[in-house]
Amino acid sequence: MSSSQDIVIIGGGHAAAQLCAGLAEAGQGARVHLVCEEASIPYHRPPLSKTFLRSPEEAPQLHRAEAWYAEAGITLHLGDPASAIDRAARTVTLRSGAVLGWERLVLATGTRARRLPALVGLSNVALLRAADEAAQLRSMLSAAQQVTVLGGGFIGLEVAATALGLGKHVTVLESAPRLLSRAVSPALSEHVLATHRAAGMDIRVGAKTGAWRTEGQRLAAIEVDGQALPVDLLMVGIGAVPETALAEAAGLECADGIVVDAYMQTSDEAVLAVGDCTRFPDRRAGQALRLESVQNANDQARTAVATLTGAARPHDAVPWFWSDQGSLRLQMAGLVPAEGTPGANTVRRPGPNAAGFSLLHYVNGMLRCVESVNAPVDHMMSRKLLEAGRSPDPAVAADPAVPLKTHLA
Ligand SMILES: Cc1cc2nc3c(=O)[nH]c(=O)nc-3n(C[C@H](O)[C@H](O)[C@H](O)COP(=O)(O)OP(=O)(O)OC[C@H]3O[C@@H](n4cnc5c(N)ncnc54)[C@H](O)[C@@H]3O)c2cc1C
Repeated sequence: MSSSQDIVIIGGGHAAAQLCAGLAEAGQGARVHLVCEEASIPYHRPPLSKTFLRSPEEAPQLHRAEAWYAEAGITLHLGDPASAIDRAARTVTLRSGAVLGWERLVLATGTRARRLPALVGLSNVALLRAADEAAQLRSMLSAAQQVTVLGGGFIGLEVAATALGLGKHVTVLESAPRLLSRAVSPALSEHVLATHRAAGMDIRVGAKTGAWRTEGQRLAAIEVDGQALPVDLLMVGIGAVPETALAEAAGLECADGIVVDAYMQTSDEAVLAVGDCTRFPDRRAGQALRLESVQNANDQARTAVATLTGAARPHDAVPWFWSDQGSLRLQMAGLVPAEGTPGANTVRRPGPNAAGFSLLHYVNGMLRCVESVNAPVDHMMSRKLLEAGRSPDPAVAADPAVPLKTHLA
């Protein structure tokens, strides 16, 4: 990286924050511009569906204070999204009309919450992606008695569990036959379902939603399995869509995500992309993936920093994820094998107490994924095992008297 290099980062979420930190640490004197659509400097998104909703006083937790960016020589462009990229001229135009030149450009544009067009603009319907939406949802929650969550994925269930903890009557509508079906094993889905139901959540899996009935600007009812379900507050948590519009308009290859190589370079080497918005080649999975997690955003940003600072190395990270839902602390390391994978088997390892356990998923004797429930030490050790490519004997791994770290020695 030459000392005069201009790097423009478009984003302002986890990946962008980690890029800024990595470039500052590398200390090679690049001029860095951070272009953020949101008016805030980068903050942590995970609390928005958890502690933030519970605590009226809680503010978004910043990655770093604003002064840090100035000290690191990073110029902030807040609340001024990038509206166009000119790859030939190597410029980015912002909504304000400002034009920034770059030698390397990094797209860290994340995802946006998937919407249902029929419900946009209704006063008792919420989405959750950014801090302003979380603040709106928090005030809507304080006024609601009954909360309906559309979508039994991570964010929907986290909001549902938070709402239940606030004393609301909560209904979750999931169209798939099980909860979290894209991310966890059927056995874990079953456990999550049973735990939330036991806590008093009304969860309907395989739910068929039909017509929506509005009264003025409010959603009054949804048809569920042929019956009208009255709605007080509806939170729509039906997944996220990668934010690729800028990249597509700039002629970069996209396929449900901005396509990058193992160095986070897009189809134009001068342009990198990181985080939720990317589709990247995963060595362990042997295929291209798009992941939505803090771990993925941070690790891809580290790979991009290495590329930008002349220390390029291929991306190679064990994916991991967590989700806090009421009494459940779910932690996943690796990717769960698809249902029906030949040679797959699972062993259950009891956790440190009755509420905890881990599911170790093997394929042809190789450890592929560990799903932990209220077993944080086993989760940490599982990540290390997967990073080291170790596959403990399933019978021994199932014995809680033998710490998983034994298998790392
Ligand atoms: C409520 C919630 C809870 C979550 N909980 C967890 C959790 O418990 N564990 C976990 O691992 N992950 C969790 N996630 C997912 C995690 O937050 C994301 O994977 C992570 O934020 C991805 O980082 P990113 O930088 O790729 O994208 P983001 O953090 O989404 O940031 C993208 C940023 O780019 C900005 N942007 C988009 N287009 C432009 C443009 N044209 N110009 C300028 N800026 C632009 C967006 O406004 C946004 O600020 C959660 C997400 C949400 C929303």
